[in-house]
Amino acid sequence: MVKRIAAALGIALVVLIAIIVFNTIIFTAEEDEAIALVTHKVNVEQAAQRLGEAVRFETDSTKRRSADFPRFIAWLEETYPTVHTTMERQLISNQTPLFRWAGMDASLKPVLLAAHYDVVPVPKASLPDWVHPPYAGMVDENFVWGRGTLDDKGAVIALMEAAEAMIAEGFQPKRDVWFSFGHDEEVGGIFGAGAVARKMRTDGVQFAWILDEGSFVLDDIIPGLERPIASINVAEKGTISIELVAKGAGGHSSMPPKQTAVGTLARAVDRLQNNPVPGGLDGVTADFFDRLGREFGLPERALFANTWLFGPLLENQLAKANTTNAMLRTTTAPTMLEGSPKVNVLPVEARAGVNFRLHPRDSADSLLTHVEEAIDDGEITIIKPENYSEASTVSDADASGYLAIEKAIRQTFGNVATVPGLTIAATDARHYGRVADNAYRINPFQIEDHDLARFHGTNERLSKDNLRLGISFYRTLLEAQ
Ligand SMILES: [Zn+2]
Repeated sequence: MVKRIAAALGIALVVLIAIIVFNTIIFTAEEDEAIALVTHKVNVEQAAQRLGEAVRFETDSTKRRSADFPRFIAWLEETYPTVHTTMERQLISNQTPLFRWAGMDASLKPVLLAAHYDVVPVPKASLPDWVHPPYAGMVDENFVWGRGTLDDKGAVIALMEAAEAMIAEGFQPKRDVWFSFGHDEEVGGIFGAGAVARKMRTDGVQFAWILDEGSFVLDDIIPGLERPIASINVAEKGTISIELVAKGAGGHSSMPPKQTAVGTLARAVDRLQNNPVPGGLDGVTADFFDRLGREFGLPERALFANTWLFGPLLENQLAKANTTNAMLRTTTAPTMLEGSPKVNVLPVEARAGVNFRLHPRDSADSLLTHVEEAIDDGEITIIKPENYSEASTVSDADASGYLAIEKAIRQTFGNVATVPGLTIAATDARHYGRVADNAYRINPFQIEDHDLARFHGTNERLSKDNLRLGISFYRTLLEAQ
């Protein structure tokens, strides 16, 4: 009897191993059709000098009245005269230039390519650490240095350089191509991209697709991958900040109750942190890891190939790293606390601020239900904000726009894997996406691990090589429109 059970178990184990091995063997990247590299002749020195000039305008989004905004727009006009005479340009909210490049066939749906020229502030304390001052626009042998080079003036300049050269060569697109350069992306994009979307809706313009920032070609950033990954993001997370309030009787701290408002509030925050919003490998996250998983060597590939068995184990592992955890779920970040103004005074009120980044599977309402259930305390008032943004819809990774971007990426960057990803921060694409069938998010630059800290950080820079690739990418993509 025992022998028979052992034999049955042995056979089951062999079958199980066979299934795992079989699934792993067939779990490979789809054979990329051989795509020849396309390289355009690009005047990269000129482009680099111009990006340097663009950096010198301090278009800090927290100083929106700065004269550098109109000065930047005037500089664009002087620097790219052919674009300005060929395309129709309007200024949205006086500061966001919106261009329409008329196509030859009015029956085709238009597309929109977007970038933004506002930048985040430079903290004073970081100034001594900059190799070159952040607004000097220094161009050395290999790099253009300064605030905004990566995020996102590099893309503005690459688009303008591409279009200026193409028009000079007599190119006209088949469909209408629009460019939009937002001036307030870093502070929500309401008056730039948001106003563009409202205007397009009023005017009855619906885009086939839009392309904005949101990811990059990532080299050596995810350990274990053999080639760079171009994450063409098909969705972006939403953001909502909730306030928690606990009330108390107040009074002197020498005769405190068993628990003060601060204690009640702290318990609520703790419960929230210990009850993460459920997440996992489904929807856009599943598609991302399904394509990414094929790029790993063993043993990771065996795990991703057999999510039917290893799914929970994988989710557990992915949840351990902050970056991959943010891909899996709506994240919870308690960020602000406030109690009594004096240490010997009992609080009459204690407040906490918690920021959540909504995964496309969740909504603000479903999140609030989760928060109420997790806290489960009648003493806590949960205040929903007036302003928040839901996660975007998920765009189609098989639609013509995605395929066109994917092809241009491969034509420009060669042997890279393309995956449909999720932008975990907020960008202007969520506004433009409201007037488009699909919204995609990637900047055509290849970045490495050490570049991540330069975003919104110190020593932001873009290599001339990247600038050349970016211009070449936009040209290739535009030629197909
Ligand atoms: Zn940006």
